[in-house]
Amino acid sequence: MIYDLIIIGAGPAGFVAGIEALKHGKNVLMMNTAAKPLLKLLASGGGACNFTHDGDAKEFLENYTVGKNFFRKQFYSYDNYSFVEYLESAGIATFCREDGKYFPQSMEAGEIRDFFLKAFLEKGRLINDCKARAASYDASTKLFNIETNCGDFEGKKLLLACGGQSYPTTGSDGSGFKLATQLGHTIVPPQPALSSVNICDHILAHASGLSFEEVELSSYSNGKKNFSAAGALIITHKGLSGPVILDNSHQLAAGMKLVINFSGASLEQTIQEIKQQKINSPNKLFSNLPIFSILSQRILEEYQNSLKMNFFHKKTADINLQEIKLAARLLSELELEIESVDSWNKAMATAGGVATSEVNPASMESRITPGLYFAGEILDILGKTGGYNIQAAYSTAKAFANNI
Ligand SMILES: Cc1cc2nc3c(=O)[nH]c(=O)nc-3n(C[C@H](O)[C@H](O)[C@H](O)COP(=O)(O)OP(=O)(O)OC[C@H]3O[C@@H](n4cnc5c(N)ncnc54)[C@H](O)[C@@H]3O)c2cc1C
Repeated sequence: MIYDLIIIGAGPAGFVAGIEALKHGKNVLMMNTAAKPLLKLLASGGGACNFTHDGDAKEFLENYTVGKNFFRKQFYSYDNYSFVEYLESAGIATFCREDGKYFPQSMEAGEIRDFFLKAFLEKGRLINDCKARAASYDASTKLFNIETNCGDFEGKKLLLACGGQSYPTTGSDGSGFKLATQLGHTIVPPQPALSSVNICDHILAHASGLSFEEVELSSYSNGKKNFSAAGALIITHKGLSGPVILDNSHQLAAGMKLVINFSGASLEQTIQEIKQQKINSPNKLFSNLPIFSILSQRILEEYQNSLKMNFFHKKTADINLQEIKLAARLLSELELEIESVDSWNKAMATAGGVATSEVNPASMESRITPGLYFAGEILDILGKTGGYNIQAAYSTAKAFANNI
């Protein structure tokens, strides 16, 4: 049997594309490495599926750290509100949380999975436990041939929606990149993204669980600054996480230095402010000065323990300049060294993938092999945490289906 369309990958991109293709009367086969479809979607948003984010188009697109210019085209056609409408019209009530993240009202990713499965399986064919090992295109017959562990399949069109390389137990193990290469495509080297970092001699380990709404983060290697960013930070028992780390983790590596500014002021300004507060409140316990209220007593304790000193418990009047400078460093220039960045098993996304310069942004068709298409995380598009990656899967899949 020759299928009109073969989709490799039963994730959100594969399903949105498949459901739309069926509406166009196509005969569709979807294959999936994992024993069950949509495993990553089920894990998303802590099982609640944060599928997109609030915000106008310009603001929304700022949240793509890779591939923004390419993605613009699909997003303008199928934006965040189009995705909300798509789910609502399927009977899935959604809501936007205070922080701008959209979820199904039920807070159950399973509700979206059930909709995808029901809509696709009415007319489409899904084979799980079926991994595509090789893909080829015969220009004379204009057919694709897919070799799998459960037989060979032929199709007139092929959509690679294999996801990236993170969480390989979901079947998204990077094998899609190999298939794209076999069909002539260039792969921007894949790298784990949206990962937490582990810190050497983690002096804040006992403060794990604490979070900060906004810190400034800078990273350095060999004394040279790589980047600065601002955002929320979470201290974990092994290191750091939270959006400011996750969204930039693909630019981080073991051995790099991180400098955290909790206060938002420069080191010099912070020194001056502490001196002023010392004049104002000489009889207060040093740790009780207002400037330290942005940190917790646990962090102050941990920090002075790491220095093998005890100055936060002193009366402010007794604090000397060296101690003021050390305290100011904690507030505005805390230096930490990265031991490691969480790798594929824990990364929530992949940076890198099929080079977007080789894909038509309007139709998602390959510029190299006619009849070959891409959608979802297999592409070199990376969104921040907050629903931007599932949105990318939706918009790219819809753009593909619109042109089929
Ligand atoms: C823990 C976690 C939480 C996340 N939370 C969020 C969130 O809240 N919001 C958000 O926007 N994003 C989140 N993401 C990212 C998001 O889930 C992915 O970006 C999204 O699922 C990508 O969709 P996709 O369809 O492109 O690929 P995937 O969902 O990865 O699906 C690809 C499918 O292809 C199959 N496959 C791969 N290779 C082959 C092959 N060779 N042959 C056959 N089948 C193959 C796999 O088995 C898989 O089922 C999270 C990711 C993780 C890991």
